Amino acid sequence: MTRPQLEAEVVIVGAGPAGLACALHLARLLAARQLPADNIFLLEKARALGAHQLSGAVMDPRGLAELEPEFATDAALGAVPVSEDALLLMAAGRAARSPITPPPLHNHGNSIVALSRLAQWLGAKVEAAGVNIFTAVAGRELLFEGAHLTGLRTDDKGIGRDGQPKSNFEPGTDIRAPIVVLAEGPRGSLTRELTSHLGLRGENPQVYSLGVKEIWELPAGRFPTGRVLHTLGWPLAPHLYGGGWIYGLDHNQVSIGLMTGLESIDPATDPHDLFQQFKTHPWMRRLLAGGEMLKFGAKTTPMGGWHAIPPTAGDGWLVIGDAAGFVNSQRLKGIHLAIKSGMLAAESIFGTITGEGRLQDYPDRIAASWIREELWPVRNFHQGFAGGLVPGLMHAGLQMLTGGRGLHARYQAQPGHERMLPIAQLGPAPPRTAADNVLTFDKVTDVFHSGTRHEEDQPNHLLIADTDICNGRCVREFGNPCQFFCPAQVYEMVCGDDGAPRLHLNPSNCVHCKTCDIMDPYQIITWVPPEGGGGPNYTG
Ligand code: SF4
Repeated sequence: MTRPQLEAEVVIVGAGPAGLACALHLARLLAARQLPADNIFLLEKARALGAHQLSGAVMDPRGLAELEPEFATDAALGAVPVSEDALLLMAAGRAARSPITPPPLHNHGNSIVALSRLAQWLGAKVEAAGVNIFTAVAGRELLFEGAHLTGLRTDDKGIGRDGQPKSNFEPGTDIRAPIVVLAEGPRGSLTRELTSHLGLRGENPQVYSLGVKEIWELPAGRFPTGRVLHTLGWPLAPHLYGGGWIYGLDHNQVSIGLMTGLESIDPATDPHDLFQQFKTHPWMRRLLAGGEMLKFGAKTTPMGGWHAIPPTAGDGWLVIGDAAGFVNSQRLKGIHLAIKSGMLAAESIFGTITGEGRLQDYPDRIAASWIREELWPVRNFHQGFAGGLVPGLMHAGLQMLTGGRGLHARYQAQPGHERMLPIAQLGPAPPRTAADNVLTFDKVTDVFHSGTRHEEDQPNHLLIADTDICNGRCVREFGNPCQFFCPAQVYEMVCGDDGAPRLHLNPSNCVHCKTCDIMDPYQIITWVPPEGGGGPNYTG
C-alpha cells in the first residue's frame, strides 16, 4: 500500500499537559531566534483537544507558573484556588475528620483545574505559536531503522470490523522526523513499543492506580467551592493502596472519586464497584443527597516514582510526563511535573536543532531540576505500602525521617498483575453494589456519562493474543479478572453455545484507561488506539 509521507522536525504524540507544554515552550524558544514552528507536529487521538483529559484535578501551580505566569488571573482557564483542605478517616458506617492533615496533602496555594479545559487553554496558545496540531489522529506504530527511531505511522481510517477497507478508507501517514516525543500519558502504546523494542526499563517495574470519578451537581451551598477533602480507609481493604477525594468546583459541582491501586491480590477487585460502595457511606450519602451525577471518567496514574522511570531520551526520541512516570505518589500530583518535563524536553530539542546541545541532555536537565528535588525524597513511598496500609504508614514515617530512604536504599516493586492470587486461595468474591441510578450506577450508565463514542465498524482495538487462555485457564485460575478491573464493562463472560463461559468484548465502551493492558494476569491483552477520534469526551 502506498502511504502518504510527511516530514517534520519534531513530532509530539499526545496533547496532554506534557505534550502541550513541550510544543509551546519549543515554539517560543524557536521564535526568539526567528525560527519557524510549523515543522512541529502535535498529534492527539481525541476528537478535540482536552476530550481525553479527565477533569477536576488539584494542580500544584509551579509548572504552569513557569510556562504561563498569568494563568492564575485568566478567567478562561477557570482555575479555582484551594480554600481549605482536610483528611477524612473512614470506616464502615463512620467517618471522622483527622485532627491533622498530613503535610503532603496540604493544598493551600494549589488550584483545582479541569484538565480538559487546561488542555484547550494551552492548545489555543500552541496553535497561535504556529505549531501544527492534528486531532483525531493516533500514532499507531513507530518507524525504526535498527535502534534509531525515524518517525511514526498514524492510524488507518475506514477499516471495517473484518479488517477490510471500507469506502471511506484513508491509509495512515508515515511521518518522518528526527525527533519524536512520546507524551501519551500512562501506559502509552507507542511508549510500550519503544521500551520493548529497545529493551528499556526503570530500576523498578512501573505500577499504577486506577482513579474512577464522577462529577456531581449538589444543592446550592452544600460543599464550598475550593474545599479539598481526601479520604483514607473504607471501602478499600487494608491491603489495597488508595483513597478517595471530594473537590469543590464552581457552579455547585464536586468532583468525587476513588483511587484504587492496581496491585490487589484479589482478582475480583473491581475499582468501579468500590467507588460505587464509597458513595453509599452515610457521610457520602448525606453529601450527595438531592444531587445529580453529571459526568464520569476513569484514568490510570503511574505510581512507581523515581525508581520506575525508564530511560527518557535516546536516538531520535524523548519520553515526557505520565508516559515516563513523573508523578509524585505521596502528594497525588503530576500535572506540574508533566509540564516541567515537557519544558525541559523542549529545551533539549531546541539545543539539538540549533547545534548547541543534544537530546540526551534531557535526563541531565531532569536530574538538575526541581523534578528530581521533589521525586527523590519520595522515591520509596509507594513501594512502602506493598504490605498494606499500616506497614505503609510506618515506612512512610521512617522515610520522612531519613530523606526518603527508610529501611532500604531502594524498595523493590512488583508489577500489579503478578501480585494476583489464584481464586482457589481466596474466599468467595464480595457482593457487588446494586445500582439504584440515583446514587449508584452500573458501568454502562457511567460510560454513557463519559461521552464515549467509537466508530462501531472497525477492528477490535483490544488485541488478545490467545482467547483460549481467557475461556479456559483464566476461568479456572483467576476467574477472569478483566470483567472486574475494567471500569467500562468492555469485558464480559457470557454463556457459550456449549454452556461454558466465553469472553465477549464491547470495545466501543472503552474509556482508554489501559487497565486491561496493565492488569491482565497473563499479559496477553494489548491495548492499541482505536481509529482516531474515538473514546471519551471529557469536558468542562
Ligand atoms: Fe480501560 Fe481496557 Fe476497559 Fe478500555 S478495555 S476501559 S482500556 S480496562
